[in-house]
Amino acid sequence: MFYMPSRVFFGNDALTRATERIRSLGQKALIVSGKSSARMSGALDDIERILSQNGQEWCLFDRVQENPSIDTIMSGVTEFVVNSCDFVIGIGGGSPLDAAKAISLVAANHTDRNNIYKAEKYKKSFPIVAIPTTSGTGTEVTPYSVLTDPKTQKKAGFGSELAFPTLAILVPLYTLTMTQTVTLNTGIDALSHLLEGIYSNKRNTVVFPMIFAGIKIIYENLPKVLQDPRDLSAREEMMRASLYGGMTIAHSSTTLQHSIGYPLTSVFGIPHGLANGLVMKGIMELYYPVIKKELDSLFASLNITQMQFYKWLEALKLSLDIRIPEAFIEDRTPEVMESRNMANNPFEIDPEDIRRIYRELKEKD
Ligand code: NAP
Ligand code: ZN
Repeated sequence: MFYMPSRVFFGNDALTRATERIRSLGQKALIVSGKSSARMSGALDDIERILSQNGQEWCLFDRVQENPSIDTIMSGVTEFVVNSCDFVIGIGGGSPLDAAKAISLVAANHTDRNNIYKAEKYKKSFPIVAIPTTSGTGTEVTPYSVLTDPKTQKKAGFGSELAFPTLAILVPLYTLTMTQTVTLNTGIDALSHLLEGIYSNKRNTVVFPMIFAGIKIIYENLPKVLQDPRDLSAREEMMRASLYGGMTIAHSSTTLQHSIGYPLTSVFGIPHGLANGLVMKGIMELYYPVIKKELDSLFASLNITQMQFYKWLEALKLSLDIRIPEAFIEDRTPEVMESRNMANNPFEIDPEDIRRIYRELKEKD
């Protein structure tokens, strides 16, 4: 079953085309963003202009840090309530968008911070507009929000149909300002999502043409945008692939590929997409024997061999500049085993496989 209720507007005029829909969402918006990219990308100016044309009010909550914490969500909820807002607009990468989704649900359900991950308790939400400025997470079309608990340094997500954005507005122009590092890390995140649509035990061949197309787009266009960050047509393709990745995981969810990366981010601050990329080859090798048929048809569709795919990945030079201590591996392997996404692996994972993949990272250092 494929279900994705968000209305998607895609293209450089997408925000203008969404004007009437935005008007219908309420009188006052809480705009949720990070520190500077919402303004720098041009998205914040554009949405402010549209809201004022529509006669709508807004206030800005621009304090979302990377990998948003539960504390940030609770501060955003206070802003939402104190300012009597009636919808949220997230602008930015996955961090502000996931924060916007959580703020909507927590505010609508008067949830306390200890119950934030309990998706079954959410009964309603305020409308959510998601305007991505990275091409990576696809969160503008997923039912997930990924948050970090600062007390335990644990990063985890929850999924609720109520967290699907009402409007997903994708404007490739907004991604032109991404640095090379953010471009690379987020592009690899989108690739992870697409691959996980093949790996997941919830995989559905109905979406395989979209997955294969998305991977081909990244294979061809990620090197182009790294080479020339101002290549708008390659940026547009990357945003399309990111959207396909989001639609894929909205259906299939993520797997060990994501679960194993979360502690690398919450403990060492390794960016989300890079964490996925560092383990991508290890995970593919682990899964290959059981999903050989699907992966072989992917490589055939790309007209490359598995080895050529690894060479392409290597050429991106994803690297780790910290040492992974053995104590981290011992401490965090049980956390990975318990994570929600582990229910979606194509077979039951042995904790020793997780330790081995972490140790391979350590050896590369
Ligand atoms: P991000 O954490 O939102 O942002 C990373 C950095 O990129 C920030 O410094 C941000 O600046 C900057 N940035 C964003 N857009 C930019 C632009 N157009 N120009 C220049 N700089 C820009 O990165 P992300 O990789 O997109 O999101 C990662 C988060 O999403 C993680 O927490 C991950 O777990 C989550 N995620 C969620 C889902 C889901 O379905 N819910 C799926 C995958 C990943 P500012 O701080 O100034 O904004
Ligand atoms: Zn991801």
